[in-house]
Amino acid sequence: MAAGYDAPEVVLLMGPPGAGKGTQAALLSEARGLRKLSTGDMLRGHVERGTDLGVRAKHVMDAGELVPDELIVAMVQSELGDMDPVRALLDGFPRTPGQAAALDQLLGEEGAELTAAVALDVDEDELVRRLEGRARQEGRSDDNEATVRNRMQVYQRQTQPLLDYYDERGKLRRVSGMGSVEDVFDCILGVLP
Ligand code: AMP
Repeated sequence: MAAGYDAPEVVLLMGPPGAGKGTQAALLSEARGLRKLSTGDMLRGHVERGTDLGVRAKHVMDAGELVPDELIVAMVQSELGDMDPVRALLDGFPRTPGQAAALDQLLGEEGAELTAAVALDVDEDELVRRLEGRARQEGRSDDNEATVRNRMQVYQRQTQPLLDYYDERGKLRRVSGMGSVEDVFDCILGVLP
């Protein structure tokens, strides 16, 4: 972890499936000494280990729907509660207005404030192209065509409205996710305080 980071910092990485959140989250957490919390990775871990949560989540994930808020919030809460100070990079959370409200409350309880919500913008053709590539390379069971289409719709319906929520609070930073990994990463660093 990078030295000298002892103040609370909480960055959200937002964007549709295939926007590059996971790749950028890994780079950013390393560069700023933040713990990466990817709710998708955490859920896939539960599925692999066959926990109760994993068993309940698997069919929801395979359908491209969202796992219920209370399960997700409990998972994030147990991670954030362990940190002092809170220094986290949230990848794929929050995804619903209920999760955003729960995050505000959790951060308030921890005496931390949201640093920024970074939204990666990528056009739809490029998203589909990237997800097809990922399906071939990683074999994720939710990267098939029907599920991808549903995940895009779920994103537009449930998660996109959160961009307004953070914009109204002065926290939204929009970054083009269309360039190379390095270019996008430089842009993200450029919009963070
Ligand atoms: P991701 O890796 O972020 O694309 O997440 C993969 C899948 O996990 C999603 O399609 C959802 O089914 C589930 N998931 C991940 N994060 C959340 C969240 N914050 N709220 C609800 N479901 C989630």
